[in-house]
Amino acid sequence: MPKLLLATGNQHKLNELKSLFQDISYELISPSEIGIHIRVDEGGGSFHENARLKAIAFASNSHILSLADDSGLEVDALNGKPGVCSARYAGVGATDTQRIDFLLSNLRNIPETKRQAKFRCVIAISSPEGTVKLFSGECAGMIKSEPIGDGGFGYDPIFYLPQIGKTMAELTQQEKNSISHRGLAATKARIYLLNLTNSNSNLD
Ligand code: IMP
Repeated sequence: MPKLLLATGNQHKLNELKSLFQDISYELISPSEIGIHIRVDEGGGSFHENARLKAIAFASNSHILSLADDSGLEVDALNGKPGVCSARYAGVGATDTQRIDFLLSNLRNIPETKRQAKFRCVIAISSPEGTVKLFSGECAGMIKSEPIGDGGFGYDPIFYLPQIGKTMAELTQQEKNSISHRGLAATKARIYLLNLTNSNSNLD
């Protein structure tokens, strides 16, 4: 079975990616399982560029087909912030709770009806030689005034889905996968990976 390195050091993302790609005919590997610890400078300025940089770095280092995800939250009332800075919005090393508190403090004067937001995700798949394919997904919602639910990670407890009537953190992993930005990008990436094995070719 071909190997696929899930190129992230974020345990929450790793769990989601494993659940999204569990039933494809690839052996899923995490960086810690093969002793790879790379910190990629996410200075690309866009989800696409950051995902590409991460996937290439892991693939060239491990010599294994690698899948990276760059994702974040864009809030309309904050002109798209925190965007690509979602992880470090409240400073490097801040917790999810601190990030949520900081975001809510910046939205304190915005009524709940004007808090449109979207999660965005770009998945990049790179061959060891550096050939990259990109897949994107989006999920629209509203920002709540306080956290609800204990599932998911990151900004999930304040990301409300009007069509479902719950926050992302109130969904099961399976429910989140079926509608989330990462789930939608993964659906496209899965088709690509399946075609890759079916045609028995590689990326180059
Ligand atoms: P990065 O892709 O490693 O730069 O980190 C993205 C950051 O965006 C995470 O640390 C979270 O704060 C946030 N984020 C990305 N995806 C999700 C999600 O599915 N739920 C909640 N927050 C997310």
